[in-house]
Amino acid sequence: MLRTGELIAIGITLHNFPEGFVVAAGYTYMPRLGLIIAVAIMLHSIPEGVATAILFAKAGMKPFKIAILTFLSGLAEPVAALAGAVSLSWNKECNWFFTRLRGRSDDLHHGR
Ligand SMILES: [Zn+2]
Repeated sequence: MLRTGELIAIGITLHNFPEGFVVAAGYTYMPRLGLIIAVAIMLHSIPEGVATAILFAKAGMKPFKIAILTFLSGLAEPVAALAGAVSLSWNKECNWFFTRLRGRSDDLHHGR
């Protein structure tokens, strides 16, 4: 059970990186969209953390250690969001793309 919990925790941690990057991309495109994506990802991360914690608890791990491990796994997301925000802000092509995309969606929204 511990081995399964460890594998799930590693998988969840790895998949938290692209999720954090998506928050950064959404925020770069439109801050309000980034906030909506962040809230949605935060909500869906709750069952992910619970799934990991249950496996560790069934393996007999102490609750404090479970809390630390699930916290560290979840920490991958804001770290990736920060890295994504920095890399997207440095990348001129991404800024050009998001600016054009934002302009195009404004045109569509206003019937142009
Ligand atoms: Zn997730």
